[in-house]
Amino acid sequence: MDYRGIFQNAVDQLHAEKRYRVFANLERIAGRFPRALHRSGDTMREVTVWCSNDYLGMGQHDDVIDALCNAAGKMGSGAGGTRNISGTNHPLVELEHELADLHGKEAALVFTSGFISNDASISTIAKLLPNCLILSDELNHASMIEGVKRSGAEKKIFRHNDLEHLEDLLASADPLRAKLIVFESVYSMDGDIAPIEAIADLADKYNAMTYIDEVHAVGMYGLRGGGITDRDGLASRIDVIEGTLAKAFGALGGYITGSRALIDAVRSYAPGFIFTTALPPSIAAAATASIRHLKTSQTERALHQLQARKTKDALSAAGLPVMPSDTHIVPVLVGDPELCKKASDRLMDVHGIYIQPINYPTVPRGTERLRITPSPFHDDALIADLVGALTEVWNTLGIPFAGNESAEDARNDRIVRLPVSKAGG
Ligand SMILES: *Cc1c(COP(=O)(O)O)cnc(C)c1O
Repeated sequence: MDYRGIFQNAVDQLHAEKRYRVFANLERIAGRFPRALHRSGDTMREVTVWCSNDYLGMGQHDDVIDALCNAAGKMGSGAGGTRNISGTNHPLVELEHELADLHGKEAALVFTSGFISNDASISTIAKLLPNCLILSDELNHASMIEGVKRSGAEKKIFRHNDLEHLEDLLASADPLRAKLIVFESVYSMDGDIAPIEAIADLADKYNAMTYIDEVHAVGMYGLRGGGITDRDGLASRIDVIEGTLAKAFGALGGYITGSRALIDAVRSYAPGFIFTTALPPSIAAAATASIRHLKTSQTERALHQLQARKTKDALSAAGLPVMPSDTHIVPVLVGDPELCKKASDRLMDVHGIYIQPINYPTVPRGTERLRITPSPFHDDALIADLVGALTEVWNTLGIPFAGNESAEDARNDRIVRLPVSKAGG
C-alpha cells in the first residue's frame, strides 16, 4: 500500500481542479486594523486585509485586550482541563450569563468553537428527540451538516430560504413526529438573510423546534448585538440560538442559548462538550468584555454598515460584478476558480491587498468569487484604493465586468442554487 502516494494524489487532484488552498502568512498589527504584515519567501511587507471575519475589529479593542491580559496575569494561560474534571473557571461562568442575557434566554453553554457548538448541539438535540426528523437549509454551514449527519436522524434538505418547500416537507411528515428545523440567519457567502419570522410561524403550525446559527450576525445586528433575531425582535420565537465568539466578538469559542432544560441536557450528553478542555479564562474574559461593549455601543455597528454600503456602491459604480447582498458581506463574482486565484494573487502581489479566493466546494462551481468584508476601519481612502486595484486586476486578467453575459449566466446559476455541500467557512 502506497500510503504517501494516496495523500499526494488527493492533493494533486485539488491542484488539477485549480482549487488547492494556500493560506497567506500574515501577522495582524494591534491598533492598526486592517493592516497586517505579509511574509512571502524572504520578503515581508505591510498589506491591507479585506477578508477578515473580525468584522468590527474587536480583536484589537483596548477593553478586550485589557480583559485578556488581566485574566491571563491573574489566572494563567490554560483552563486546566475539561469542566467535567476541573470545574469551570469563573470568567467562563460570567461569559455564559452574558450570553444568556444577550439572547434573552434562560441559559447558555460555551464550546471551544462555533464549529463544535453546531456539531455537538445539533447531533445531541436530535439524538435526544425520539425519532427526530431534521429539516435543514441546503446552504447550511459544514458544521451544521456535520451535526445533522452525526445525529443519525432522518434529514430532509429544503431549498435555500424556500418556505414553500419547507412547508411541503413539514406537512408530509407525521404530525406527531419530533421535528427540528436548522438554518442560519445571515448566510456568509452570499450575505442574504433567512425569513426567520415565517420559519418560526411554520414551526408553530407544524409543532417543530427551531435552531438558528447567528454566527455572521452576533455583535453586528440588533440594538444589543444579539443578531438578526435581536434586530427583528424574534429571539423568543426561536428555541436555540447559536453563535460564535470568534468573528465579530474578536475572541474564540462558540455557544448555544436556550431553555434551562435543553442547555442542561446538551451539557450532560454531548461528547464534544464533555470530553474536551474548556476555553482558557483569558479568552472567556476577552469575549465577555467584547460582548459587554457591543451591548451598549452602537458606534461600531453604525460605521460597519456605512462602510459596507459605501464599498458596495463604489464597486458597483466602477462596473465590478458585485453580487446582491442584504448585509455587510460584499461578494464580487469571478466565475472561474483559476481566475479567482489569479485575481487574489495579483491583488496581493501588485496592490498589497489581501482577499482570499472563494472556490468550490465553499460555493457552487461557476460562482467563484472574492468575498469582501468591510469593517468600521476600512475608511473611504482604503475603499478608493480597493476600487482602483480591483479595476486594474479585472482589466488585466480579462474578468467580466457587470452586465457582461458570462457574468449574468453565472449569476443565474446562482439563483438556480445548485445543491452544494459546503466545506469552507
Ligand atoms: C465560521 C462559522 C462557524 C464556525 O464558527 P467558529 O467559531 O469559527 O468555529 C459556524 N457557522 C457558520 C455559518 C460559520 O460561518
